[in-house]
Amino acid sequence: MNVNGAIVMKNLIKDESISLYKWIWKSYIRTALIPLLIVELIFICIYFGSNIWSHKKTVIFFKGQVQDQLEQIANQEASGIDDQLSSITNSTMFFSIQMGRALSTQASLTPIDYDRLTYSKEGAYYTKKDSEDGGASIFYSGIVPIKEDEQEKVARALTQQNLMADIKNTQPLAASIYLNTFDSFNMIYPYFDVISKYPPLSDIPSNNFYYEADAAHNPERKVKWTDVYLDQSGDGLITSALCPVYNDGFLEGVVGINMTINTIANQILTMHIPWHGYALLIGKNGNILVLPNSNKTDWNLDKINDNIYDGNTLKDNFNSDQFNLYKNKDLNFLTNKITNDTSGFSNFMLKNQSRVLSWSTISNTGWKLLLVVPEQDIYSKVDILIDNIIKIGIFMTSGLILSYIIIFLVISKKTKKISSAFSNSLLKINSLVQRISDGNYNQEEPTFKIEELKNISVQLIQMGKRLGKTNKNLLITQYELEKKETDLKALVNSINDIILEVDSKGYITNFWSKSHHDLYELYMRGNFSSIDDILDKDTCNRAREKILYVLQTKETVTIEFSIESNSDLKWFEACISSRLNYETKVVVSARDITEQKKLASSIISAKEEAEKANKAKSEFLSSMSHELRTPLNAILGFSQVLELDPESPLTYSQQQSVEEILKAGNHLLELINEVLDLSKIESGKVSISIECVEIKPVMEETFAIIKPFADKHNIKIITYPIEDSNEFVSSDRTRLKQILLNLLSNAIKYNKQNGQVIFYHDRIDDKYRFHVIDTGIGISDFDLDFIFKPFHRLNELNNSIEGTGIGLTVSKQLVELMSGEIYVESQKDIGSHFCVEFPSTDLCILQANEDVILDENPNYFFENRLYKVLYVEDNPANLRLVERILKQINNIEIFSATSGELCIDLAVSHKPDLILLDINLPGMDGHEVFKRLQMHEETHNIPIVAISAHAMPQDIEKAFSLGFADYITKPINVVSFSEKISNILVNNELKDTD
Ligand code: ADP
Repeated sequence: MNVNGAIVMKNLIKDESISLYKWIWKSYIRTALIPLLIVELIFICIYFGSNIWSHKKTVIFFKGQVQDQLEQIANQEASGIDDQLSSITNSTMFFSIQMGRALSTQASLTPIDYDRLTYSKEGAYYTKKDSEDGGASIFYSGIVPIKEDEQEKVARALTQQNLMADIKNTQPLAASIYLNTFDSFNMIYPYFDVISKYPPLSDIPSNNFYYEADAAHNPERKVKWTDVYLDQSGDGLITSALCPVYNDGFLEGVVGINMTINTIANQILTMHIPWHGYALLIGKNGNILVLPNSNKTDWNLDKINDNIYDGNTLKDNFNSDQFNLYKNKDLNFLTNKITNDTSGFSNFMLKNQSRVLSWSTISNTGWKLLLVVPEQDIYSKVDILIDNIIKIGIFMTSGLILSYIIIFLVISKKTKKISSAFSNSLLKINSLVQRISDGNYNQEEPTFKIEELKNISVQLIQMGKRLGKTNKNLLITQYELEKKETDLKALVNSINDIILEVDSKGYITNFWSKSHHDLYELYMRGNFSSIDDILDKDTCNRAREKILYVLQTKETVTIEFSIESNSDLKWFEACISSRLNYETKVVVSARDITEQKKLASSIISAKEEAEKANKAKSEFLSSMSHELRTPLNAILGFSQVLELDPESPLTYSQQQSVEEILKAGNHLLELINEVLDLSKIESGKVSISIECVEIKPVMEETFAIIKPFADKHNIKIITYPIEDSNEFVSSDRTRLKQILLNLLSNAIKYNKQNGQVIFYHDRIDDKYRFHVIDTGIGISDFDLDFIFKPFHRLNELNNSIEGTGIGLTVSKQLVELMSGEIYVESQKDIGSHFCVEFPSTDLCILQANEDVILDENPNYFFENRLYKVLYVEDNPANLRLVERILKQINNIEIFSATSGELCIDLAVSHKPDLILLDINLPGMDGHEVFKRLQMHEETHNIPIVAISAHAMPQDIEKAFSLGFADYITKPINVVSFSEKISNILVNNELKDTD
């Protein structure tokens, strides 16, 4: 799926579902139209942007061009006007020089001029008429007395009439040429009627036409231009070029040329200014000297209806502020620029219209020539260009929109077509899927135009077929599963355990109990959710530890706990196992063991009771035996006395009676002894010393003991010679002999006339077996179950055979105490086979110990001193070992005894330095022997070391509390044994010497 597909899918999921038409439509828009539109928009933006940019650049360039061009025009025009004014300036200068010379040169009036001159009544001297050729007008103010000198001055001045006429004729700008003298003499060309214009007493030097050029105002004596003023005689705006006339340093007067600015005005008004611009001329003080009438509105002169330069209009307005550009407050910034710079270019707003202005200064007069052009006219062509570009852009955009609308319509139509083709196919597929989902798994292939959809349908049909098969199998499996589930439910329902699912934190995540519905109800109501809620703190801690252990090891552990439920205490035994597929959970299966607990406690108390009773029984038997033994001793003793008394021999019947008494008494004594033995075993008081017992001597001794008894009964005992003397069993030597004697005596007792007894041993694996086989009366299968029960004597024959019915019971219990087994096989009237089995023991320890070579004569013994050591032991193997160890020490002499009684005799007679005493002796045991030795004066100081197979702490403790010097446990460690013996001997010696 591509990215767009993914987006669409995402939207499908988010907006649930959309129609195929919308989906395809959206895809078109997203993948084709929008990117296309974006590209087109970018191009349009680039188009407009680049055009605006180039337009701006063009405007900047054009502005530069316009500035150059306007400045050029202004400068050219200004310099043209300036040239014309310079010509006037030069002429004025020339005229001044000529006039100076003329005034200093004697002259007299020509008759024509003389004829033209006359006096007014106020005394002014003047020309009353022009000459025929055209002459100058003369006016000499009446404030000066006109005498000959003055007349001659007039004559001298008049010599320059022709020059004045020449200047006037050659200078088109010159309106008139004149001379004013310090004494108010005025000559002016061309002629006019001066007396009618001038007041007869005029003070000419007070006039600006004079003083602007006098020494105070013109020390450089150059040509000076007056401000433009309105000519009173109607010549319009006039200005004068003035130049002083000095005569030998004396300012005689001022000559001047009047100039109307009409000619210059016409030049300016007829100038061609591009871009509909116009020119205007302003004077030094800012008065507008020349302005096209059509542009008067720009300068707020529109109130003047007529031509602004009409004589009367000018008269009224020329000196007003509105005619002065520098006094227009809105153009202050412009005024500064224009007055400060001789030429320049600027933009400014006039009548809300942006204008450009270029100006240049006419240096002779200080006038400014201004060219004003509306800005929009300058850029009108550029604007037309940009307008066209924008129009093209709009046209392109419109075309684009139109093409998009067409594309939209076409795509919409296509989309509808494609979507309907798709949706029809999909509907077919849908109905196919529907039929399959309805269970009609075998479907015919519908026709499709689109290959992929056709493939899908083929796949679907195949899938449907497979689904059919799978469904069939599924149904079968489901059926089997349901069956199994029912079985499982039945199985689970029959479980009385509580099953919990617990997580590592102790939270109960699942609880199930059929038997404890009350607990289940509490759980469902939310009364407990954690093991903390149902267990006490200690149990809880234990349970947590176990849960963690199970989680770590995956092993199953058990725990017992109790819950207070409905006011009674319930005990549970829980099995904690790891939960399959969950790393942090365990399954606890808790079983109600309250009843078992109760039973167990009742059993324990019953057992305690039984034990108590048994103990009481044993104690009773023990005390009874003791009590019975005393009178029995008397009976037996006195019976023997009666039997053997030579002084009063018994009669035959008496003899018979005494024999019966003796027989009954002996039987009773035997019975008492065996009962005592049994009670000792049952009360756990019997002392068993398991050690390494050599088989050969045991069997030989037993045979020797029983032989007379067999002979008495005419029974032959068959034995086999025992060659191997290295056979050892793990057993108590005395008790082993006791058991074998019991079996042999039974085999003899319950035999037939001249019967036989076979007595032998063999080895099976790591066990030795002692066999006693007889050819006697045998035991029935039924009776075999009872022969080991106490006081069970079987057949009638028993009445004639002496016995107690305890022997086998005692034997069996002794065998089991020594970790052995007893077996019996018997056939009635054929014979019995009794067998006892004990673990064999390797002699390796003994041999190893025997092989140890001790250091010869440990040097702590006193030299030449022989220590006597008495060793009391009934087991020859042990005896041999200890003898062999001690014989390695030169200073020790060892002698031995096999019973307690012999030990006492030997100790009393030989006074040994040390007695080694086996605790487990036949007859009198080691403790008893110790007590007796303590009672004898000869022996009570002899150190006695206990040697025993009993290694229990209480045994050792008991020995030390009695006063034994040391306690050595079997098997003997040769080295430490030797050291201990040596130490005791030496220490005792040292004590004695002290
Ligand atoms: P008892 O003192 O009677 O011999 P035991 O405990 O030794 O007591 O034997 C129990 C009984 O088992 C005997 O009374 C006897 O009936 C039967 N019994 C024991 N040994 C044999 C044997 N070898 N043959 C037949 N019966 C035997």
